[in-house]
Amino acid sequence: MPGVSFGANEYKMGWNAQPTRQVILEDVRVPKSNRLGPEGSGFKIAMAGLDGGRLNIGACSLGGAQSALDKALAYMKQRKAFGKRLDEFQALQFRLADMATELEAARTLLWRAACALDTKAPDATMLCAMAKRFATDIGFDVADRALQMFGGYGYLSEYGVEKIVRDLRVHRILEGTNEIMRLIVARELVGR
Ligand SMILES: Cc1cc2nc3c(=O)[nH]c(=O)nc-3n(C[C@H](O)[C@H](O)[C@H](O)COP(=O)(O)OP(=O)(O)OC[C@H]3O[C@@H](n4cnc5c(N)ncnc54)[C@H](O)[C@@H]3O)c2cc1C
Repeated sequence: MPGVSFGANEYKMGWNAQPTRQVILEDVRVPKSNRLGPEGSGFKIAMAGLDGGRLNIGACSLGGAQSALDKALAYMKQRKAFGKRLDEFQALQFRLADMATELEAARTLLWRAACALDTKAPDATMLCAMAKRFATDIGFDVADRALQMFGGYGYLSEYGVEKIVRDLRVHRILEGTNEIMRLIVARELVGR
């Protein structure tokens, strides 16, 4: 339509598999026949799409972090330091145990929120916000800890973990920042 244009492709820290540009709307005339619902309901329609989107972003964080953990486990089996394989040091085993436990908690909360959304439960929006906030914070943190397990190699692109860390960082920002997720949960709690 006349008035719709796009900004330049943005250079980003990560997420380079998906191009990001501004969508610019200047004096765009949209006919009534294109309306998605009754007048005044646009915000509600847009918000309704976000609950599922938040689960999607949480699931992307979970998958990325699981992949980083799997890569770290494989690396720790072969790398030796001070005469032992890395996966034989109890301090590192405990770190792995925490990472796996936190990912399992994120996975379970995502399932719970997805179930609430599917069944149109009244607390679905709050659960989706909780799951997005938790899975994206934990996902980033687990990926960062996995990178640490590689030592200096973790910082090199060859091993693929630094890319996961850069990609997961944005999940704490988009589809509603994690501060806004807390706002949604807090409003629901205080409202009660
Ligand atoms: C790679 C990428 C892709 C994107 N894709 C899309 C897309 O496809 N569609 C789309 O619509 N948008 C997209 N976005 C935009 C994204 O959704 C927003 O950047 C995000 O929602 C945050 O909004 P903002 O940048 O305006 O931050 P601001 O609203 O300016 O917030 C700045 C900071 O203040 C905090 N803050 C703001 N208000 C409060 C408050 N009330 N209480 C506490 N803290 C607060 C925020 O959490 C944040 O930390 C994309 C962004 C990126 C980086």
